[in-house]
Amino acid sequence: MGTTIELVTEHPEATTAVGAALAPLLRPGDVVSLTGDLGAGKTTFVQGAARQLGVAEPVLSPTFTLVREYRGSVPIYHLDVYRLGRVQDVIDLGFEEILDQGGVVFIEWGDAVEALLPESNLQVEMTMVDDDDAKRSLAVTGRGRTWVERWEVVEGALDPWRV
Ligand code: ADP
Ligand code: MG
Repeated sequence: MGTTIELVTEHPEATTAVGAALAPLLRPGDVVSLTGDLGAGKTTFVQGAARQLGVAEPVLSPTFTLVREYRGSVPIYHLDVYRLGRVQDVIDLGFEEILDQGGVVFIEWGDAVEALLPESNLQVEMTMVDDDDAKRSLAVTGRGRTWVERWEVVEGALDPWRV
């Protein structure tokens, strides 16, 4: 049993649906790190997850605001650290305090601040597929015990998009 699942989405709504499918498995304190080029679909994924977690208001990209907070069934923090090149900038933003809030944290470009992420986290790597504007491949990797113990459930939830 591996802890990486490879998926393909054929259109934006499928990426939203993947986020929504994963959302019920998220627990307070979880960190989901999203990686992939601009336009890969990181924000689209978070929109699907946040909606499923009970956020009614529009979920907008935090590219310029850096962090947005929502009240769903749990507190949700959505960060985009693209414009923060340095780990210290992310600390200054209050990242460690955010991690202590007992919410679910989605962090776009989280790989840039790998060292600040808790040991247990979920990584979603999104890649554009060359020959198709609407297709993305996603690699979902669970790290740490809390994800390993949930992995069968994750596999079940993401099965429809598996390749
Ligand atoms: P990021 O946050 O990674 O920069 P966004 O989610 O903001 O990316 O934007 C992704 C863009 O790509 C949107 O315009 C979306 O409509 C488009 N798109 C096309 N196909 C897909 C797909 N399969 N999954 C996600 N987004 C897609
Ligand atoms: Mg984005």
